[in-house]
Amino acid sequence: MSVAVMWFRRDLRLGDHPALGRAAEDGAVLPLVVLDPALLRTAGRRRDRYLASVAALRDATGGALEIRTGDPAVEVRAAARRVGATRVHVSADGTPYGRRRDRRVGDLLAESGLELIMTGSPYAIGPGLVRTGSGGPYQVFTPFHRAWRDHGWPAPAPGIEPTWHRSDVDPAHRRLPDPADHDAGEERALARWWRYLEEAIDRYDAERDRPDLDATSRMSIPLKYGELHPRTLLADVAAGPSTSGREKFVAELCWREFYADVLWHRPQSAWRDLRPELAAMDYADPDDAAELITAWKQGRTGFPAVDAAMRQLAAEGWMHNRMRMITASFLIKDLHVWWPVGARYFLDQLLDGDLASNNHGWQWVAGTGTDAAPYFRIFNPVTQAKRFDPDGDYVRRWVPELRHLAGAAVHEPWRAGDGYADGYPERIVDHAEEREVALTRYRLARAAQERPE
Ligand code: FAD
Repeated sequence: MSVAVMWFRRDLRLGDHPALGRAAEDGAVLPLVVLDPALLRTAGRRRDRYLASVAALRDATGGALEIRTGDPAVEVRAAARRVGATRVHVSADGTPYGRRRDRRVGDLLAESGLELIMTGSPYAIGPGLVRTGSGGPYQVFTPFHRAWRDHGWPAPAPGIEPTWHRSDVDPAHRRLPDPADHDAGEERALARWWRYLEEAIDRYDAERDRPDLDATSRMSIPLKYGELHPRTLLADVAAGPSTSGREKFVAELCWREFYADVLWHRPQSAWRDLRPELAAMDYADPDDAAELITAWKQGRTGFPAVDAAMRQLAAEGWMHNRMRMITASFLIKDLHVWWPVGARYFLDQLLDGDLASNNHGWQWVAGTGTDAAPYFRIFNPVTQAKRFDPDGDYVRRWVPELRHLAGAAVHEPWRAGDGYADGYPERIVDHAEEREVALTRYRLARAAQERPE
């Protein structure tokens, strides 16, 4: 029987997997993961979560998964040669690094008469495929969303049971984290998803902005590692009743696709302002602002909602979407720090840390991205908190020093006589003042941009 290599990357699952399906058409399948030091070095807290997901995939293949460490170009070619495969199958990876790597691996394989075959991607519609009438990329979410829906996507790939080719190389593998300790792997992701689908998705529209309720799907983490494919989620959503909760959920999944598309067309927007309007903006020097940035990271700004969220991030490696917006706004507009500083910290901490969604989420807040919230719309961390955590439960969950304050009083400890009794820190800035500073800097940046050279 001939053998094909299935090289898994951000697609650590067996179900709804078009590339695996094509590999199985070639004969037996050698499942392969290459631990790429260049990626693992910069993976922050995702490193262990990723390794746990690899361990779950190894279990799902009955131990057949071959796990190598090193330069993917070298390791993939070596594995293919060893088993006599001429074809290596992958799901496409549209990130700037992934595209560079795959060009290099493809070239090296071709030199040896081997083929790299890409089928599918981590998205319902691959980045770059939804185009305007004139063939260009969309710049703005709403028309992208409309075109994305009109374009449509294939049904989930049929289930298959590949014949695994067992490699006798390195049978001990390396020690990997236990998937159960990290809630990792396709099976757990599916169980969580089905529970969400049954219990909560129909309330998504009404409750998704409430960090105090456990009302969102938390699918961002399985989606990050490809333990599930978004097409599986979309098909399950469509199979149920048509509710506003489900509609909204699909729209949110589309944001993920939109940002991947933007990054695919404009890879340089990963770390630089997508739009140039605020190029002249006067941000704080990160060295001068080091103490403020540390207070933000540690959840010790004296603004309860900001601190609760930053502590949730530190504890769970995840943060609610509304709180990501509030904490990002605080760093950019209250502390005047340029967005990449915060984006880098989030990427380091978030288990769902994703270059496209994270860095464009940050640019959305900074007013430098796609159809961004304009810079002058500045979140007030107190009014946001009162609106979205109306009883203060979210803050009390993460900030023990404020648990003695009841209800919404927790959002304003400076108003309570005993607000600081348990050691909660004082506010590090005056929001009203910093808001004015931010607006002045914004006006100056705009004026500088409009001035002829
Ligand atoms: P749900 O509300 O259940 O949404 C379902 C899915 O839709 C999510 O899993 C996600 O895949 C997608 N989605 C929802 N909202 C967005 C959005 N605004 N942008 C893109 N996709 C979205 N998401 C990441 O996956 N990785 C990140 O690194 C990331 N960083 C962010 C940074 C900032 C500053 C902001 C404002 C948002 C960021 N997001 C990121 C988007 C969003 O906050 C998370 O996807 C969401 O909170 C994950 O929780 P959930 O799975 O319960 O979401």
